[in-house]
Amino acid sequence: MIRKDLRNIAIVAHVDHGKTTLVDEMLKQGGAFRENQVVEDRVMDNNDLERERGITILAKNTSAFYEGVKINIIDTPGHADFGGEVERVLKMVDGILLLVDSFEGCMPQTRFVLQKAMELGHKIIVVVNKIDRPDARLYEIEDEVLELLMDLNATEEQLDSPVVYCSGRAGTATYAPEVPGKDLRPLFDKILEHIDPPAGEEESPFQMMVSAIDYNEYVGRIAIGRVTRGTVKQGQEVMVCDYHNPDTKYKGKIVNMYEINGLNRIACETATVGDIICISGIENITIGETLCAPDALEPLPFSKISQPTVQMTF
Ligand code: GDP
Repeated sequence: MIRKDLRNIAIVAHVDHGKTTLVDEMLKQGGAFRENQVVEDRVMDNNDLERERGITILAKNTSAFYEGVKINIIDTPGHADFGGEVERVLKMVDGILLLVDSFEGCMPQTRFVLQKAMELGHKIIVVVNKIDRPDARLYEIEDEVLELLMDLNATEEQLDSPVVYCSGRAGTATYAPEVPGKDLRPLFDKILEHIDPPAGEEESPFQMMVSAIDYNEYVGRIAIGRVTRGTVKQGQEVMVCDYHNPDTKYKGKIVNMYEINGLNRIACETATVGDIICISGIENITIGETLCAPDALEPLPFSKISQPTVQMTF
């Protein structure tokens, strides 16, 4: 199954290079949730507490809609202090936007995250941002990015990464800085074209690695991750495993399940391959553990799942 209706990306940016402004603009221009009506109905059906749950457990992850495709935009922790976390977060996505200020250029602090993304083989879109700056150094910046990519042993494909010039503030993007942009369409189009859609087996037993943990006073711990195989339903039983630690194995129940919609999380009933979801109900869940179908013997290592040609042996 190839999820043509979905892309999962992360933004790698130095602080102040305009990430928040650009993402806000992507959400504004990215259109409404395709099942807007259904969502509203559902929210209104719920009691106040439920509604509260939907809107208060907001983290930094967002999603935009463009031409019928949902684009999950995952924030990355800024620097090396979050080593293992960076890697897990990056495993939720298939590509990155490398956002670079048109005057300041690449900053050493983003190098670590970029390197991790490259090691995972992620596609890269270089976004030269704030091109409205009078002191913009567009072509120098491009050379600097190329140098950095070479320095980090980029593959041929990564060296050939497309460049999109943006002004997040003006809400515009263009492929050639001498051609003014009207809106962010060129950026959205490039994401759809260049970043691989998630792929996997929806009929296989469910599996998801927990990449991040959040907490909310109403529902407790929330496990966030990407469904790597199979399909999962709200209310179902799951097995919690840790393939680094075979002693960890216990059953739990998914009480609430959410997907990211714009800036909010909204309840969803099912999720499948590629979806990034938030799950509550399993009290002691920790980062790095894997949720599996309840009858799973043991989870498959991530490295095996990410290769679609490997035959699953359940
Ligand atoms: P973040 O720290 O990467 O999330 O950056 P912000 O989005 O908060 O922006 C940092 C600063 O850059 C703010 O003062 C913004 O107003 C400014 N900024 C953001 N986007 C642009 C842009 O496209 N052009 C210019 N000239 N300034 C921008």
